[in-house]
Amino acid sequence: MPGARFTFQNDMAIQQLAPAIRPIAAQTAPALELAALTVRYNSGAALENISCTIQRGEQVAVVGPNGAGKSTLFKVIAGLHAPQHGQLRFPDPACAAPGAVAYIPQRSQVDWRFPVSVFDVVMMGRTGRVGLFRRPSCHDREQVLAALDRVQMSKFSQRQISELSGGQQQRVFIARALAQEATLLLMDEPLTGLDMRSQDGIFAILDSLRAQHVTVLTALHDLQLAARHFDRVMLLNQRLIGFGTPDEVFTPTQLMSAYGGHLHLALTDTGVLTVADTCCGHDEVAVNA
Ligand code: ADP
Ligand code: MG
Repeated sequence: MPGARFTFQNDMAIQQLAPAIRPIAAQTAPALELAALTVRYNSGAALENISCTIQRGEQVAVVGPNGAGKSTLFKVIAGLHAPQHGQLRFPDPACAAPGAVAYIPQRSQVDWRFPVSVFDVVMMGRTGRVGLFRRPSCHDREQVLAALDRVQMSKFSQRQISELSGGQQQRVFIARALAQEATLLLMDEPLTGLDMRSQDGIFAILDSLRAQHVTVLTALHDLQLAARHFDRVMLLNQRLIGFGTPDEVFTPTQLMSAYGGHLHLALTDTGVLTVADTCCGHDEVAVNA
């Protein structure tokens, strides 16, 4: 990508990060409260003293360098990993019900060779309701077909999951969460490896979830997309460095605190500022203008 690097001290560059701020979801009942959450692995601390409140229906981008604790945070919220200290609360009963939290792991964490059809993957979202040993009812099947329809994957229902593109696989996982009737959706780097068209497809689905007040936390590496598409951003690097609207959080000081030197700001030949961290082996990432 042609471009000139900027430093964090370049106020002009930082100002160009200014987001199209979306109003925070009208419903302001808390969906999730994290209170002094601390998680340690044998290898050391992954999250230290994280406290924040996520409102019902808001969409939050979780950003930070590799190893910042994004996936760990999602696993703790999904109940897959217990924190050593602190508390996790779901004040909204709709978020505390069984199956209310759906976790879509990073693509690299999924064995895509597993021989299973799209329909069956989405039906797995009903398992909590159907029970492992009960046959799915007509209603369950209808829910699965409706979920596939909402992500425009109906015509692929009999395909093997391994035969789909990355963007299609993400849509199927979102359909599984919809079939589960999740009210809190955790998406771990859903955009990684997707082309712009597929990314736009994911954002269109997020827009439809917004209308239904589904709360969404999405980990991603592209700060420009985080600023443009999300109500608030959570900037992590083991600690919670910032949590608020993109213009509150993406300040030079806080970005430097999270990323150190591992952030690139560049001007494209169309004059658009692009911002991405240098995680995941990508040097500079093309972002939507
Ligand atoms: P991110 O998703 O932001 O890249 P992770 O949550 O995956 O960060 O990792 C946070 C830290 O915890 C890293 O230092 C990572 O090496 C460590 N870590 C993650 N999972 C494990 C695990 N299962 N066992 C030991 N250490 C882990
Ligand atoms: Mg991760």
